[in-house]
Amino acid sequence: MKAVRRFTVRAGLPEPLADLGVLATNLRWTWHPPTQDLFASVDPEIFDHEGGDPLRLLARVPGERLEQLATDPDFLARVRAVSDDLRAYLTEPRWYQRQGDGGGNGTRLPGSIAYFSMEFGVTEALPNYSGGLGVLAGDHLKAASDQGVPLIGVGLLYRSGYFRQSLSLDGWQVEHYPVVDPDGLPLVPLTEPSGAPILVHVAMPGGRVLRARIWKAQVGRVPLLLLDSDIEENAEDLRGVTDRLYGGDQDHRIRQEILAGVGGVRAVRTYCELTGVPQPEVFHTNEGHAGFLGLERLRELVSGQGLDFDQALSAVRAGTVFTTHTPVPAGIDRFPVDLVQHYFGDGTLLPGIDLRRILALGAEENAGMFNMAHMGLRLAQRANGVSQLHGAVSREMFGGLWPGFDTDEVPITSVTNGVHGPTWAAREITAVIGDPQDDGYESFDESVTDARLWELRCGLRARLVDEVRRRVRAAWLQRGASALELNWTDSVFDPDVLTVGFARRVPTYKRLTLMLRDADRLRHLLLHPDRPVQLVVAGKSHPADDGGKALIQQIVRFADDAGVRHRIVFLPDYDMSMARYLYWGCDVWLNNPMRPLEACGTSGMKAALNGGLNLSIRDGWWDEFYDGSNGWAIPTADGVTDPVRRDDLEAAALYELLGSQVAPLYYDRDGSGVPARWMAMVRHTLASLGPKVQASRMVGEYVQNAYAPAATAGALAQSDDFRVAKDLAAYRLRLSGSWPHIRVIDCELHLEDGHTPVIGDRVPVRARVDLAGLDPADVEVQAVVGRVGDTDELTDVVTGTMHHNGDGYYATELTLPHAGSLGVTARVLPKHGLLATPAELGKVVLA
Ligand SMILES: *Cc1c(COP(=O)(O)O)cnc(C)c1O
Repeated sequence: MKAVRRFTVRAGLPEPLADLGVLATNLRWTWHPPTQDLFASVDPEIFDHEGGDPLRLLARVPGERLEQLATDPDFLARVRAVSDDLRAYLTEPRWYQRQGDGGGNGTRLPGSIAYFSMEFGVTEALPNYSGGLGVLAGDHLKAASDQGVPLIGVGLLYRSGYFRQSLSLDGWQVEHYPVVDPDGLPLVPLTEPSGAPILVHVAMPGGRVLRARIWKAQVGRVPLLLLDSDIEENAEDLRGVTDRLYGGDQDHRIRQEILAGVGGVRAVRTYCELTGVPQPEVFHTNEGHAGFLGLERLRELVSGQGLDFDQALSAVRAGTVFTTHTPVPAGIDRFPVDLVQHYFGDGTLLPGIDLRRILALGAEENAGMFNMAHMGLRLAQRANGVSQLHGAVSREMFGGLWPGFDTDEVPITSVTNGVHGPTWAAREITAVIGDPQDDGYESFDESVTDARLWELRCGLRARLVDEVRRRVRAAWLQRGASALELNWTDSVFDPDVLTVGFARRVPTYKRLTLMLRDADRLRHLLLHPDRPVQLVVAGKSHPADDGGKALIQQIVRFADDAGVRHRIVFLPDYDMSMARYLYWGCDVWLNNPMRPLEACGTSGMKAALNGGLNLSIRDGWWDEFYDGSNGWAIPTADGVTDPVRRDDLEAAALYELLGSQVAPLYYDRDGSGVPARWMAMVRHTLASLGPKVQASRMVGEYVQNAYAPAATAGALAQSDDFRVAKDLAAYRLRLSGSWPHIRVIDCELHLEDGHTPVIGDRVPVRARVDLAGLDPADVEVQAVVGRVGDTDELTDVVTGTMHHNGDGYYATELTLPHAGSLGVTARVLPKHGLLATPAELGKVVLA
């Protein structure tokens, strides 16, 4: 029998309870405790059994109970209050609406923004994610909703959104792919007024058509559109396009990405027409996977507005933001060129768009491969990494796309990820600090005593211990143990022992097994007579990654040992529903990636929101937010190239920190049993990290630094029948003819005779430039001064714009920035009103 349909649920609700249907389908309930409490009180037992999912609760709860509630004035009053609250939340002006026009810096705030991602982790009730990227996307939507940012999420709905993990008896990961029925999920299909589902069409080779239905999830104020190919109108193989997230081969994957990108734009267009929501002014490509969206927008402009490819490209780039999440070249999404050719080559998918131009957008060093990140960067005027360190790594990694520029001039900035406070902070914490997104974290300090805060932390730890016991027992039953031999699981973990958490997916760079490097030393830490440590580990390996599964098996085997199994556990099936207990209850959150391969990492932020202290390699966000007293930094063996030795050194540093700093601090108690020095760090973590790790901070930065400037540039590009976009295209064409012939003929610095300049002196610089027929207004000529070494290479440079004095002569005055040996040079850069930075076109002429 099928699960109850959403509208069946509504029909089944007695009329006075109709609002419950609305409350159950708007996913704001996932971060709104009063709504959760309301549903829990319908039937606490069923609510619990259904994992706290209101929709499933309503489908299961007996009709008599609903009839009874429909006449219960107290309950009805609560329904009304919670519904009124939701209505106010959905309609009242919020942060974005209070920004005034343009966020204060002359830029324009977009009327809507489309946010494309291949996965969205909003709640376990909508299992449509695999890991950190998806949870981040979910947090982005929630924070945008809270801030009133008019985002529209776009992605795919997978039949098996993520796999469930269990263990075989010998500790090997086993995968299950539960199939979800969209009718049982908090989704509604987009339909024609007649009620017929609206389908998006995407052409496939050989005259075939891939169709997809559009489901909408409502995440507070933010709609999330999810495309689903599993419909009868599709051929059998095409039905399977959205079967699994990150499953299948390259062919399967490119079909998914074509559907998400090309189909996704078509879905947003339809949605906006249908609802009157303004069409997006900005498109945000969250990681390369969704990058085909830019090609569809090119097609729209070429076929709908009569622009040529280059003109369309200028306009599309202006309104596009690209975020990269991958600091490892091997992690970048790439396709064989012939596969791209197969799908785009016959011109039916994107009529009017020349295959060669498409291939050029994804070109990389290897001529046989099409690089989605390169395409993402070429289709977006604004690009960013997800922490400051990752921004720097990305500028280095993608620097080849901007030849002739120093790494720090590569136009990739950073917006450090954040996490959605109301989702990840335990209720007990928010009860004390207030709304995590207001100034609660900054200001809670005086009002809460150490003893109170410690009691709260102990409560969260105790809840985690219960959850660990429950899960360990369930895992052993699943592995084939009999209940009779599992009494020991009742005393796994101790609610008073220092609890360390380590949970993440298990690609190699995350080093799941670093802690096992010296198994005796780890055992010693776990079993210390006075200062024991207990360790909870979780994580899924990609189903195709046997290496990752072998790492999990090593941990499981270690933890299976009767001598330590009360102090270390591996919990199978890491997902949002487990993660929250870990973030709430762990005293210490451990992270030991191979620096700098963790782009940001967000789980440690979630622990910090609950007063967990981070113990981490200085990678990703921790490199930027660690301040010496809000946790610990595991020293990295930077520069040691032998990975085995590096692991040895870093593991030793980890044991050392745990044994000689972390544990002693935790067990150092005052007269009333409170670890005062520990609590000082907890307080400092809450106060210093609490405000910074919020997704609301992240979304605010995207608005200020990406969405508003992109909307401004996009509007400029389109204005006056795309005059500026056309002008930029013509300009680029003009440049490409003349550029190779531009020369800096000479450049000199004028020093007064017999006078040695001092730092801070202003000195005149002159240069002669042959513009090869270009107009002086077409270029920016810059004087550059910096340190020189033996190779004449300039470092620590300062630049100044030079003014044209006629006849190819340029001049300016520069302030000497350093003492010691300096050098000077001049360079020529493109200049156009629609360029975000002079480096944008990757063109520069050096002297
Ligand atoms: C936050 C989160 C992640 C991401 O954590 P990282 O620190 O980036 O590895 C992964 N999975 C779940 C369920 C999460 O909640």
